[in-house]
Amino acid sequence: MDLLAATTDQLRDAAVAHFKVAKGAGVAAAIHRSATRDGAFDPQALGLGEAACAGWRALAQLQLPRTVDEVVEPVAGGEVRKRLLRLHDGLTVESVHLPMGRGRSSLCVSTQAGCARACTFCETGRMGLRRNLTAGEIVGQVTVQHRVQRPDTIVFQGMGEPLDNLEHLLQAMAVLTDRAGLGYAHDRLTVCTVGHVPGIAALRQLGQKRLNLSLSLNAADDRQRAAIMPNSVRYALAEIQQALRDFRQRANLALGIHWCLLPGINDTPADADRIAAFCAPLGRLLLHVIPYNPGSAPITRAPDEHEVVRFVGWLRDRGVPVRRRITKGRTVMAGCGQLGAAGTQLGAAATSSRCP
Ligand code: SF4
Repeated sequence: MDLLAATTDQLRDAAVAHFKVAKGAGVAAAIHRSATRDGAFDPQALGLGEAACAGWRALAQLQLPRTVDEVVEPVAGGEVRKRLLRLHDGLTVESVHLPMGRGRSSLCVSTQAGCARACTFCETGRMGLRRNLTAGEIVGQVTVQHRVQRPDTIVFQGMGEPLDNLEHLLQAMAVLTDRAGLGYAHDRLTVCTVGHVPGIAALRQLGQKRLNLSLSLNAADDRQRAAIMPNSVRYALAEIQQALRDFRQRANLALGIHWCLLPGINDTPADADRIAAFCAPLGRLLLHVIPYNPGSAPITRAPDEHEVVRFVGWLRDRGVPVRRRITKGRTVMAGCGQLGAAGTQLGAAATSSRCP
């Protein structure tokens, strides 16, 4: 049993079956807490007898991803830290810890090694999908960071499309929100998707009103989207729009809409018109304009400051609540959609990026 993939209740149930006793909730909670918060598994430290310790070691194991490299970029209010983590089979994925102001921070975690979506502006999209991460491998990225500093929020926005790995994503969320362990409230979690309609419906069915959701939009008509995000056209924008409307379970939920600004591709007044039309029925939202970070095979250049400000202005003129995303981590290849390999060699395993 993977300790990082189990909630306290699941651990207790497994222990009850394994030890053939009807109790053990306290020990299960202590083991869960120690594993998920500290990345430690030491039954002896809990004062258990020799037989019980041996039983726990036979029942469960801790497989914390191993940090093989870190790169840091100083930014206002702290530093962006990109961490490369090696999984048990040698694949490497990335997490990025970002300062968010006022002493708060966010951790961007990966849900897949590689990605099948092939978005043209994203390095991960060039890799193809290696495999889904397990729930334990997703939680493990948080645990590794938690040992240094607890992130205030978790965004599923690193390598991969989270809703293409729904089963493990949901289990990871159950572990992250377990009060005996890391104890994140659902409003501290954000799932970012390119528009996986059944996945959005599955998140809705969780009934967690405070869970945050973001859409990586980047093109607001289907033809343009097919060109930029060729493997995300299974669901038309109208279907995605309806799924987002259905997702809302509280009036004050602010959906996130992400727009990677690609000069010469999606930066015209007509694009702003289409964004406004797409967003109009969605209720409260915040559109994040993310200046493109060119990777190893750029499809265009990075927008200059004037272009970013101008596009933000067009959106404001059309009544779209908008925020310009401050570029962080570009110099250490930790920016959205950016190559991870330049500052940090991953060998034959994997390169990684953050999903815009
Ligand atoms: S932007 Fe996100 S969904 Fe698209 S290829 Fe990159 S990781 Fe995958």
